[in-house]
Amino acid sequence: MPETILEVQNLRKSFGDHEVLRDINLTVTRGEVLSIIGRSGSGKSTLLRGLNLLEPPTGGKVLFHGDDIQADKFDLEHYRAKVGMVFQNFNLFNNLTVLDNIVVPQMSVLKRSQADAKAHAMEVLSQLNMDPFVNAKPAQLSGGQKQRVAIARAEAMDPEVLLFDEPTSALDPEMVDDVLNAMTDLAKTGLTMIVVTHEMQFARDVSDKVLFMNEGIVAEEGTPDQVFGNPQEEVTRDFLKRYL
Ligand code: ADP
Ligand code: MG
Repeated sequence: MPETILEVQNLRKSFGDHEVLRDINLTVTRGEVLSIIGRSGSGKSTLLRGLNLLEPPTGGKVLFHGDDIQADKFDLEHYRAKVGMVFQNFNLFNNLTVLDNIVVPQMSVLKRSQADAKAHAMEVLSQLNMDPFVNAKPAQLSGGQKQRVAIARAEAMDPEVLLFDEPTSALDPEMVDDVLNAMTDLAKTGLTMIVVTHEMQFARDVSDKVLFMNEGIVAEEGTPDQVFGNPQEEVTRDFLKRYL
């Protein structure tokens, strides 16, 4: 049996009387790539934000290696270091160089020495072909380059799971493949990934499991072949038609 890393049980989230997540259940095992697809407004970002408690759920549980992440004794700081997030809009520190964007979190959160953090940063930056840009500031980079720095920053924390929230949605079309290729390489290293995306080809090629969200519930889930090749639900078929 593959090891379960994250388990979501009956997760709910409301903003006022608007119920955005209604009874979400999912399991992610080690090394798995889970893609989450669905219309804008279906609750995908709220789900990811619930997973790292950027947005505390109003009901249900998230278990990390079986431990309830909302329990009083749960080490949330450790958890946040182990479960990284890559955002649509990069969320880089614009006043820091590329190198420092990657060095500083390793030092402050993981207490790495500057020398270790720097060595580690150079390693991940060169894997992503971003080593020539170590001294640049984010404003000097293209969107695709910024996103590769954000991925390098997440990777440098040695995460167990990376969450991606539409990492290519803010990019010019010619930058998208760069970032998708970097993510494909990461998936091949065996990293566990949860990816919210509108890139259906990526979801189909790289995921182990695809989850289609609709109006705050998981309307359908399965292997990419099942969900894309033979969707069972009318809402899934309707949604996928737009991408043919
Ligand atoms: P998706 O990522 O699938 O596009 P979201 O999770 O961002 O969807 O949003 C789902 C719904 O929740 C939307 O109707 C959105 O307006 C609402 N929502 C998200 N965040 C908040 C918030 N902080 N306050 C109020 N409503 C929110
Ligand atoms: Mg979203």
